Amino acid sequence: MPGVRSKPGRKETVAKPKFQAPKGMRDLLPEDMERFRAVERAFRETCRLFGYREIRTPHLEATELFKRTVGETTDIVEKEMYTLTTKGGDELALRPENTAGVVRAYLEHGMHRSAPLQRFFYWGEMFRHESKQKKRYREFTQAGVECIGSPGAAADAEVIALAVEFFKALGLGHVRLELSTFGCPNCRPRFREALEEHFRINHKGLCKDCLRRLGANVFRILDCKNGSCRELVDDAPTIDGFLDTKCRAHFEDVKSVLNDMVIACEVNPHLVRGLDYYTRTVFEIFPADESGRQDALGAGGRYDGLAELLGGPSVPAVGFALGVDRIVRERKGEGRGAAAELGIDVYVAGPLQLIGLSQKKYRYNVEHLVIALRRAGLSCVSDLCTKRLGAQLKDADKLRASVAVILGEDEVAEDAVRLKNLQTGEQRDVNENQMVSEVKKMLETQRKESGE
Ligand code: AMP
Repeated sequence: MPGVRSKPGRKETVAKPKFQAPKGMRDLLPEDMERFRAVERAFRETCRLFGYREIRTPHLEATELFKRTVGETTDIVEKEMYTLTTKGGDELALRPENTAGVVRAYLEHGMHRSAPLQRFFYWGEMFRHESKQKKRYREFTQAGVECIGSPGAAADAEVIALAVEFFKALGLGHVRLELSTFGCPNCRPRFREALEEHFRINHKGLCKDCLRRLGANVFRILDCKNGSCRELVDDAPTIDGFLDTKCRAHFEDVKSVLNDMVIACEVNPHLVRGLDYYTRTVFEIFPADESGRQDALGAGGRYDGLAELLGGPSVPAVGFALGVDRIVRERKGEGRGAAAELGIDVYVAGPLQLIGLSQKKYRYNVEHLVIALRRAGLSCVSDLCTKRLGAQLKDADKLRASVAVILGEDEVAEDAVRLKNLQTGEQRDVNENQMVSEVKKMLETQRKESGE
């Protein structure tokens, strides 16, 4: 257990704490948070560059919203939603995804009336009661965009390009993009019939769930993870034989715009998405190596019928959701994401005898310096446990401080401080009122030397 020391050879038995995070959910400790924040910063910046504005909707929405949009027969709605009834009798669900919530908000606030095209991004936690699997959590973070109001292939390509740029900004430029189309309500009935026939003939290979899906919604069989079902899916008819002229033309346009943008993609006719609301374009993004074949970093597509399903006008739209937990893991696997973001700028330290002798004056001076440094935009901490100077400097090391400001008795008397460059060990005394500018210079030199 971190932080618990035991003598070599002696086995330490540490009682399990009484309370633990709920199954499938986890704590993100400060180091994890640094990694998450680095991804969030890159996502926000990419969205800014593309003109997408943030939207934040509640974590709870009406259960009916997801039943209608995600689909009654999807795993998400059938098995994975956390639902509750409020004291007032409202049926609510912790959001399993956020597109439905964003479109609900878009309609509720009449945004379709204010501008024909709206670009949104969101960042937030989603909840799915999934069975325990590696890389799947019951609470996880998604970063997503929704481009609402354009039926054109340029909109599909724009959201894909945004995702690609974001991965590049994270240093994961080698991700693989798989693309397909799911047609529209006009193309699907014949495709559904062909699939039903295929799976009926081969029903012996289907799992119990898929036998039920065959009667309820055959498309759900396409994303079953069961091995024998997967084999049958591989041999099943694909949508390309059933697309109508408009859907076919749209798909060709999307590929052509992506080609113009020099965005590589693999067409995968077996690609299907586990949510009912998709129409036409669907895509998934995977890590480039084969090991990640099953674990998409993100997915998205067009959902032209969603606003109407919610009682609104017909509004074409396209978007994606990326799995931040998986992206962070992927970056960590490549040794990226933390070190540069960790650490503080300054540690203000002072010797113990100084604290003992004139603690009030010492604290006053320390607080004074700490406040001045923070107001100048530098992250800064001081000792709160009356440790010896050596222990304070060890703390500074643990916190990866770049500079130590040391206050000795002589310095207090002379309104001076000692600056120590914690990367090179170099020390020098400066007048207290020059401290901020001198610390900044020292940090700047360190940055230049480390090539940042
Ligand atoms: P979806 O909303 O199912 O299309 O998922 C979009 C992305 O969110 C996936 O590609 C994953 O990266 C991520 N994701 C979905 N479910 C989970 C989960 N239970 N745990 C972690 N990430 C998830």
